[in-house]
Formats: sequence, C-alpha cells, structure tokens
Amino acid sequence: MRVWFTTLAAVAMLASPAFADPLRTSAEAVRDRALADPTAYDYVEQLSVEVGPRLAGSEAAARARDWAVAKLKALGFANVHVEPFPITAWLRGPEEAEITAPRPQRLAIIGLGGSVPTPPEGVEGEIALFHTYADLLAAPPGSLAGKIAVVTQPMPRAQDGSGYGALNPARRAGPSEAARRGAVAYLVRSLATGVSREPHTGALNYQESAPKIPAAALSVIDAQLIDHLAARGAPIRIRLKLASATQPATAWTVEGEFPGAAHPDQIVQLGGHLDSWDPGTGSIDDGAGMAIAVGAAHAAAAEGPPKRTIRVALFGAEEMDFARPAFAAAHKGDNIVVIGESDIGADRAWKVQLPAGAFQAPEMKTYAAVVAPLAVWVSPEPSRGSGDDTADLVRAGVPAFAVAQDASRYFDWHHSSEDTLDKIDRDQLNQAVATWAAFAYIAANSDIDFRALAPAAAKPGP
Ligand code: ZN
Ligand code: ZN
Repeated sequence: MRVWFTTLAAVAMLASPAFADPLRTSAEAVRDRALADPTAYDYVEQLSVEVGPRLAGSEAAARARDWAVAKLKALGFANVHVEPFPITAWLRGPEEAEITAPRPQRLAIIGLGGSVPTPPEGVEGEIALFHTYADLLAAPPGSLAGKIAVVTQPMPRAQDGSGYGALNPARRAGPSEAARRGAVAYLVRSLATGVSREPHTGALNYQESAPKIPAAALSVIDAQLIDHLAARGAPIRIRLKLASATQPATAWTVEGEFPGAAHPDQIVQLGGHLDSWDPGTGSIDDGAGMAIAVGAAHAAAAEGPPKRTIRVALFGAEEMDFARPAFAAAHKGDNIVVIGESDIGADRAWKVQLPAGAFQAPEMKTYAAVVAPLAVWVSPEPSRGSGDDTADLVRAGVPAFAVAQDASRYFDWHHSSEDTLDKIDRDQLNQAVATWAAFAYIAANSDIDFRALAPAAAKPGP
C-alpha cells in the first residue's frame, strides 16, 4: 500500500487544521500542487527522449545545454543563462574483454571514466583475484607484477545508498592501488546492487604516485563467473582492450530563477546535474534529480512570487568532478541562504536533513508538519552536505538541505545502459518534488537565517 496520496480527494484530506499559520497553509498548497504537477516527469521524459546520453565534453552535452535553456525559459524561469567552464573531456572508444584461459569467454565490461586506453592489441595477463578491496590493499608491493588485478567485492543494497560510498574507493582508487603493486590492468565488479550482465561505469581518480593503468568494471554476473572459475584452481587469463580519447573541452552549467520580490539578493539554491554517463539515457542519474529541482522551484513559485530568489542550477560536469569547483568559483560571493542538490534518483523521499541548528526553528517545525503526511521524516541529525556539485560551497559555510530518497533500487541501474526512463515511477517522483517544493517555498518565503541558527562549532573557522 502506498503511504502517500496523489488523488485530489486524498490531497484534500491533508489540509491543515484551522489554526495553522499562513506559511503552513501555503506550503501545503505547494506540496499538493507538486503531487499533481506533470512538470518534473515531463522534464525527464523529454530529456531522455530528445537528448539522451550526454557525457560532458561530447557533442550531446551541447545539445543538452540548448535543450535545458529552452526548457527553463518555457517553464517561466527568469535570467536563464549559461556558465561555461573548461574541462578535460574523456570520450569512450571501442571496448572488449575476454577470458583466454582456462577456456575462452567474452566478458561484459565497461571502461571506467578517465581510464587510459590499452595498446591497440590490448593487454593480456594472468589475474590476481581479490574477493575484497581490503585484500588488494593488503597485497605487498610488487606482488601483482604483470598481472591483471580483479576485485569482486559485492555492494550491499541499502535504502540510504550507503553501500555505494562503502565500495567507492574500490572503483576510484583501486586502479592506482593495483598499479602501485605492479598490476598492468584493473577490473572491478560493478558497483551495483542488481544481478545483471550490464556493467556499470563511473569515474576513477589516478594518483600521481602510481603508473596509470587501464581500468574497467565487470558486470556482476561476469564477476560471479570469475569467482566460480577461480575456485576450480586453474590460473585464469584475461585479455582487455580499451580505447578512449581525452581533449580540452567546455562544459556549461545552466541556471534560471524565480526572482525574489522582497530580497532578490537572497538565494535559495536548488540543483541537479545535466551531464550523464554514456551507456544509458541518464534518466535516473541525474535527469530525475534535475526534474525534482526544476519541478520544486516551479511548484513553489506557482504560489506567487517568492520573497527570496529561488534559483536552479543544472550542473554541467558532475560525473568527472569538474562542476563543483567551477560553480563555487562563480558563486562564492552570492548570498546563498541554503543550498541543495538532488542526485539520488527518482524514488520517494523518506528523510530530510536540515542545516545544523535549524531543527528547532519554528519554520522548520512547520516544514516537518507539511511533509509528515508524505511519510517523510525530518531528522534531528544535521545535514553534512547535499550533492557533489555543492560540496565546495558547503565547505565554505553555505547551509545545506539534504533529501534522502529511497535508494534501494537506484544502484541496480545507476551508470549502466539500464539507466532509462522506464525506471521512473511518476508518483514517487512527484512525492520527492513535493518534499523539495515545500522546503523551497518555506525557505524563500520566511526570514529564516540558517547561518545565524548554526551552533558555533558548525560554523567555518576564520
Ligand atoms: Zn549523479
Ligand atoms: Zn553519476
């Protein structure tokens, strides 16, 4: 049974009691509008169909930029503009891998973002298999000389998505850790919760102190096969071929806003990222996140011009970590009241974390009451951040608002060819939009000062 409501009759039942304050009444109207509003779904449907995959630095990224500018304008956003910044684009070429011994079989792999190519003929070697990433880190220097290091640790499924953070070093740092021990290539089991033959990509981060070796993700099913084969005892050999190119390029963050009628310089900043990985259509990562931010701003502003500005940023290069410093540099002087990025798919919101010190504020108690019927819990634990693209500003003291969405199924498809529109459940998407919209409305139509509420220990030092 669904615990939130989307029919108009059910929405009417959520109306607040007669003694509610006007801020609450209006925020409830925003919430209910968002639950029924097609804006967010239309955004991600159109992006998925009309633009598709949009790797930063690709021709498709420029089409995504133009699409987003036109879309924000059509939705009534003001001051729609594009902020360019330089990146090193990484563009995938043909990729293949196969077991060559003890018996041949093609493997389903995908190169990690940023990987160097192999020589055209590929690299071939005996594998050194590690069932956990910690086992690889425990291997002594030189012990992997000439070998292809393979890590097959599975990722736990969790509502809060924490399994991804736990395994992330295996993908990001694993290639350099393997190279430091002598490996000539690196394969990691996809950071994925499903069981599929579709591999999941994602960025790696080479360390300066280690040789750069080619690195790819194995599909979960092929990683399982290698585990079974290794248990038979015979040495396993794999050949890996990866092609890719890097080139200087430009990326663009697209922004638009609903200007504040009373305090236009005070900004409630929402966002999601415009770039995506290339195998799927980037519908859940992060078409849905952008759709939630855009839909929330749109639903909040439909109640009337906000007192403070509600601004949306569609960050142009999240996946390879370029948008975060660019956005911070461009906006470090802005008066951002609060910031939040939506980047955990399209499923229902279940928990919200507020900036430190804000939990007891009357406006946030109002907010908690407005979202409680959506089965959203406002946690007393303060937010520690809200999306990669906002992290530099948050570190510099900008208060962060974070929404936890149900990530139980997100990592079944994330960064794979299965990140597609059919995974989006319209009711769950709109419940997340309503959660963001009610917050954006209250933050933009009250005088709440999150910085003043922060306990001294939570404020950045001098
Ligand atoms: Zn993302
Ligand atoms: Zn991503």
